Amino acid sequence: MIQPDRGAGGASPDLTDETVDVSVLVIGAGAAGARTAIELVEQGIDPEDVLVIGKRAHGDAHATWARGGINGALGTHDPEDDPAIHAADTLKEGHFLNDPGKVEMVTRRMPRLLRELDDWGMAYSRTAEGDIDQRYFGAQSFRRTAFAGDHTGESLLDTLVAKAQSLSVPYRENVFISRVLTDDARIRFVHTVPDAPAVDIWAGDAALFENVAFRKTSSFATVDADAYDIDVRPAGADDSVLNLSEVAFDGATSYTVLATGMLGDDTLDAVLVADYVTTEADDRTVAP
Ligand SMILES: Cc1cc2nc3c(=O)[nH]c(=O)nc-3n(C[C@H](O)[C@H](O)[C@H](O)COP(=O)(O)OP(=O)(O)OC[C@H]3O[C@@H](n4cnc5c(N)ncnc54)[C@H](O)[C@@H]3O)c2cc1C
Repeated sequence: MIQPDRGAGGASPDLTDETVDVSVLVIGAGAAGARTAIELVEQGIDPEDVLVIGKRAHGDAHATWARGGINGALGTHDPEDDPAIHAADTLKEGHFLNDPGKVEMVTRRMPRLLRELDDWGMAYSRTAEGDIDQRYFGAQSFRRTAFAGDHTGESLLDTLVAKAQSLSVPYRENVFISRVLTDDARIRFVHTVPDAPAVDIWAGDAALFENVAFRKTSSFATVDADAYDIDVRPAGADDSVLNLSEVAFDGATSYTVLATGMLGDDTLDAVLVADYVTTEADDRTVAP
């Protein structure tokens, strides 16, 4: 469902909704989004089943700010360069925080991907022989950075957008995605009752978490959006110490159930906090 812009000067929004039915919605129209759309179509998806959305005008993405260039072990000037050395340089510069598998995959693919962009018309700076020129750039052992003058990112995005357009990939600009609605709800539990034992958490007939101890936060469990009886039981027991009946969980929403009060004086209760945090990246909780 798309709601058009407010228009100049923050005028009243035109609230006419538009329903767009596509199989694949690509959110983001920078280099990653454009390249994803190209891949989808090249893998056989009908372009009419794809829609690329960007919150700003087409071609206005961070990708256009990338000026230094793109790294890949082409070996234009330094034939001893190799994707394995590129990977080693990347891991070292990343202080070994980056994912080695992903680094290896990206560095191995980069020579082919740089040449692919060349085939699609990227305006690389060239050597006198007409090869893709490469220069030194931060943290690289060899001249490994391919570039297009001082406008590498702009040229890159232009190339990808032109390629996507040649494949008839539909694109909508100035559309801001504020929330992705799904039928899934995410639930986690925080044990904050000092005199209660470790607990199991049930939603209806399903055990969500086992053995969550005092001061621990469970991971998120995904359930269908619905209303559930939430049952808190001492770990391994059948009787509940706290039962919340018919708690409604909406889709595309994350819930944190916080136990409150004390078991000993009968003040045990719970607070439900709803948030729209929905990505794995936000899931920094401790597994039960
Ligand atoms: C100043 C600068 C210099 C850089 N120099 C280099 C360099 O020399 N070499 C290099 O490799 N990298 C460089 N980078 C990094 C590089 O630009 C980024 O890694 C790259 O552009 C990321 O591409 P992307 O497609 O993932 O994201 P982006 O290009 O940022 O695209 C994101 C897209 O998502 C859309 N979007 C975001 N939120 C929403 C929303 N809520 N709803 C709808 N649409 C949304 C945006 O409109 C945009 O279309 C530089 C970055 C900057 C800022």
